Amino acid sequence: MRKKIKRMTFMALTLATCVGGSIFARTPTMPNDVRFSRGVSNCCYYIDWTASSYQDQVVSAANNWEDTGYGWNPIYMTAVSSNYATHMDFYGRNTGSDSYLNSTTLGYTSFWNTDGTMTAEKGQTPTYNYFYTEIVFNTGLSDSYNYITAKHEMGHAFGLMHTYNSYSIMCPTLNDIKVSTVQQEDNDAINYLYN
Ligand SMILES: [Zn+2]
Repeated sequence: MRKKIKRMTFMALTLATCVGGSIFARTPTMPNDVRFSRGVSNCCYYIDWTASSYQDQVVSAANNWEDTGYGWNPIYMTAVSSNYATHMDFYGRNTGSDSYLNSTTLGYTSFWNTDGTMTAEKGQTPTYNYFYTEIVFNTGLSDSYNYITAKHEMGHAFGLMHTYNSYSIMCPTLNDIKVSTVQQEDNDAINYLYN
C-alpha cells in the first residue's frame, strides 16, 4: 500500500444507493492477466518467524479470500511450515533491513520464478506468470491496519492491481480505503483471472 491521490469521492458517495449491485467493475488485474502459474486452488503459504506477530492477520486474510461472502471463487489456502514450493511467503522487515521499505509503506509483494529469481524488480509489475510471491510487512508500522494490509498484499499476490475504488481491498492508501475486507469487485477479479 502506498500513497496515492484522492479521486473517487463522488463514486463512493453514490455506492450506498446501489443496493444489490456494484457500480464498480471488477478490480483491475495486471497486464496480460499475469497470475500464479499454478492457479490458486491449492495455495500454500508460509509465515516466517520474522512475521510471526502477523499470524492472526495472515490467517484472517487467508480465510477472507477463501470465503469473501460474495460468491464462489477457486481460492483454497493451506498454511505450511516451510517455504518449500509455497505460493506465498510472509516476512517481517523494517526500513533498516529492507531498502525497498520506507516510512509510509505498510507492506509490499514481490513476484518470483521457480529458480528463486524475481520476475520483475520490486515495485515493477511482472510481465509473465510467476511461481511464488513474497509479502513483506513493515515491522516499524505495526498496528491495527495490518489486518487490511495482509488482505491487500494477498490481493497483489493473486494478481490484482490498485484501484481508486475506496470500497475495494485494493484501494492503495489508508486515507482513502473505506473497507477492511475483500469486496465483490475483488472476488470478481479472482474469478476472472483463475476460472
Ligand atoms: Zn498495494
